[in-house]
Amino acid sequence: MIFCRALGQGAFGEVYQGLYRHRAGDAVEMPVAVKTLPHLSTSQAETDFLMEALIMSKFKHPNIVHFIGVCFDQHPRFIVIELLAGGDLKTFLREARPKPDRAASLTMKDLLSCIVDVAKGCKYMEENRFIHRDIAARNCLLTTKGPGRVVKIADFGMARDIYRADYYRKGGKAMLPIKWMPPEAFLDGIFTTKTDVWSFGVLMWEVLSMGYMPYTGCANREVMQLVTNGGRLAPPTNCPPQLYAIMTQCWQPNPEERPGFGLILERLGYCMQDPDVKRAPLPVYTKPPSSERDT
Ligand code: ADP
Repeated sequence: MIFCRALGQGAFGEVYQGLYRHRAGDAVEMPVAVKTLPHLSTSQAETDFLMEALIMSKFKHPNIVHFIGVCFDQHPRFIVIELLAGGDLKTFLREARPKPDRAASLTMKDLLSCIVDVAKGCKYMEENRFIHRDIAARNCLLTTKGPGRVVKIADFGMARDIYRADYYRKGGKAMLPIKWMPPEAFLDGIFTTKTDVWSFGVLMWEVLSMGYMPYTGCANREVMQLVTNGGRLAPPTNCPPQLYAIMTQCWQPNPEERPGFGLILERLGYCMQDPDVKRAPLPVYTKPPSSERDT
């Protein structure tokens, strides 16, 4: 295992790009991502870190980050996973926004393809009765920023945390992704696959607004009130009505009335075929993204 360069800072420690050789002496070296745990970590952090590896190791799907291995017999402890060099979906979309001096670098077809990738990963988790609890653009990573990119679900921190005995004491509601959660989750703590369906609807909204913060300027407390009273995110500018219809179905107050991921994929498939959808322009911006507060 060779560590090459830092990719980012995670909740536990640094994430590096590395080169991995399956067996000593193997000619092929594979570029990988290596998540490390700092030397001086608590045993709780060590357990959490290992738990995330265990969760990832269970999945085998092209739209979920691929687990390669762990090293726990020396320091730093590390997890080896597939390298997703395109960064996270939210940052990617924000950087690709059309600007006055630059035409849009993406098309509606590109946005739809990102959405379909995430839906496929979600369908696989649904089939395996796994509830992710934190489907959001920030938790999806891209193989590459360029054409042919594949989006993968890459963060299982929230699903991991529910295994902790002190989960409900951990930071309380401030730690929860309220803006991505349906009412039954933030009011009653009920999580099902239909919780992920709601969050997926919010992710669709994030993608079609090219990385806007949902309910911009609203505090979590206000969002809970708004959503409980039937308020919903408005369609992003230029959003084809067929796509907004899928989002609003994901945001049905009654979880049972929300579609499953099989049905969502079927409907997204129709949208991919629809010339009106494919031709739709990307959102336009009336204010610079820098004025957007991440609250
Ligand atoms: P957190 O613990 O905050 O959820 P992670 O530890 O998953 O974050 O990752 C921190 C950062 O490292 C990410 O924002 C991303 O930039 C980078 N990263 C994580 N996993 C990968 C990967 N498989 N390939 C490339 N970069 C990654």
